[in-house]
Amino acid sequence: METDCAIALGSNLGDSEQTIEAALARLDRDGMRLRVRSQLYKTAPVGPPQPDYINASAVFHTALPPEQVLQVLLAIEASFGRIRRERWGPRTLDLDLLLYGDQVIDTPRLTLPHPRMHERAFVLVPLAEIAADWQHPLQLQTVAELLGQLDTAGVYPLVA
Ligand code: ATP
Ligand code: CA
Ligand code: CA
Repeated sequence: METDCAIALGSNLGDSEQTIEAALARLDRDGMRLRVRSQLYKTAPVGPPQPDYINASAVFHTALPPEQVLQVLLAIEASFGRIRRERWGPRTLDLDLLLYGDQVIDTPRLTLPHPRMHERAFVLVPLAEIAADWQHPLQLQTVAELLGQLDTAGVYPLVA
């Protein structure tokens, strides 16, 4: 049985555009099949002062259970040189599992849906581009409806 899952990608250290493109390709090899991806966005940082981010989102099909998807995400982050220092500090690559079907999970390692996704324009703007009608299983609103309640200042398409 395959399930759709939504993943958020972010980077603000190194060649962020190339990192995100490479991470999408890696995910498509490591147990996930890419169905649709957003364009790249440039977004103002949240948290401590740091460079702007490049963000994107993508929907994959997978037969992996959610805990294993998280393992894949953490392994890919590590292979791109992610080092965890201060909370919400700059990083070469951040991969968050936003949604896995309509599953709700709350364990120390994995919370689904991602607990802050519905408050973040840098997550919902890219996600609304590709999955506007996906219903958040706890908020009981679609991605488009959730985005409609947020200020989207600071989130811009990165046009070539
Ligand atoms: P935020 O979670 O606010 O976006 P962050 O992405 O900077 O912050 P990280 O340091 O990347 O946080 O993640 C810390 C831990 O969060 C991970 O090691 C992972 O076990 C856990 N985690 C829980 N739920 C999720 C999820 N849905 N997606 C990704 N990581 C998760
Ligand atoms: Ca994150
Ligand atoms: Ca993360």
